[in-house]
Amino acid sequence: MSDVWGSWLRERAELRAERGVERFDPVLRLGGRLPGGHDALDLASNDYLGLARDERVVAAAHDALDRYGASATASRLVTGTLPVHRDLEAALCRLTGQPSALAFSTGYAANLGVLTALSGRGAEILLDAHAHASLHDAARMSRVPYATFAHNDAVDLDRELAARPGRRVVVAVESIYSVLGDAAPLTTLVEVCRRHDALLVVDEAHGIGVAGRGRGLVHSLGLVGATDVVVTMTLSKALGSQGGAVLGSTALRNHLVNTARSFIFDTGLAPAAAGAATTAADLVVTDPSLADAVRANAQVIASLCGVEQSAGAVQSLPMPSPEAAVAACLDLRAEGVLVGCFRPPSVPDGVSRLRVTARADVTGEDLLQAAGRVARVARVARQRAPR
Ligand code: PMP
Repeated sequence: MSDVWGSWLRERAELRAERGVERFDPVLRLGGRLPGGHDALDLASNDYLGLARDERVVAAAHDALDRYGASATASRLVTGTLPVHRDLEAALCRLTGQPSALAFSTGYAANLGVLTALSGRGAEILLDAHAHASLHDAARMSRVPYATFAHNDAVDLDRELAARPGRRVVVAVESIYSVLGDAAPLTTLVEVCRRHDALLVVDEAHGIGVAGRGRGLVHSLGLVGATDVVVTMTLSKALGSQGGAVLGSTALRNHLVNTARSFIFDTGLAPAAAGAATTAADLVVTDPSLADAVRANAQVIASLCGVEQSAGAVQSLPMPSPEAAVAACLDLRAEGVLVGCFRPPSVPDGVSRLRVTARADVTGEDLLQAAGRVARVARVARQRAPR
């Protein structure tokens, strides 16, 4: 028997090794301890508010597990909608100020669902060039023409929309971008979309829990409740759980229930995840000091590392090469600080970066020490780079 597929996989691995882009999924032990046995401070995950291990959030997950079991056991339209899903959707409306919410099993599925359901025959999709992979995948799955406009460039968007007169266009952007941490000029983008009757989908994956004192950028700009501005979010970052949601009008929710394939053909969100996210969403509303702490801690990281503070939790430190980024990450890991490493193809502009996440629960001396180590390692990596 020939080993065609074994050889093909080996070739792919060799190519990745040559290009220095091999990725790993390192095991992180509970409590932030590394397999090597040293303590590590997590400035890499998306648990911006420290809610994933908050005892109230964990208790809510336990409670939902006890009441409803380990699985929703079916898709939402069969028997998979439980009271815990309704409670979650109500909590997400309280959090975002939106009239209606529909929970999906991930933020990825929420983006797939909303773009495919809102496009269809005769529509076109325009994406910000830095939009998340899930929005690009959603545009491809929509089977309608799609294109990108220059990142955060309302003039380019205006030009692209003007070139599509009479078309039903869905525009998709993020509120705060995951890699660079910059905010979208949402008020201007909404004005441009309105001039052309386009609908704007805003992915608040990195905005909810952080921007607008936790309630997101769309809420803070007073754009809530408009039928032409739709919000998507994840439950797996600031809310410390798992899952996703689309927020907007009740008519939109009904449309998605009937047409979003990643909702219809997917098992309902696990009860424990829904219970955890419900409590986390309420905590974000009742305790805005959580979001304030992320912003303050982000400022500490940015100033120690000599970069301009981003609009979100993630501070991004450019590295001279993918190899330098990996080496810096490993050095920091050995020093007990976990940071993210972003390399092509996950970086929209091709620049490799250390991705340092501010958290509400890493403060004081811990934060100063960790950010100091990041700053030193990043400086050394830049000095080592060939000029
Ligand atoms: N949108 C953005 C901007 C994201 O960063 C992510 C997560 N990386 C997602 C969507 C997907 O969310 P989830 O992890 O819940 O699938």
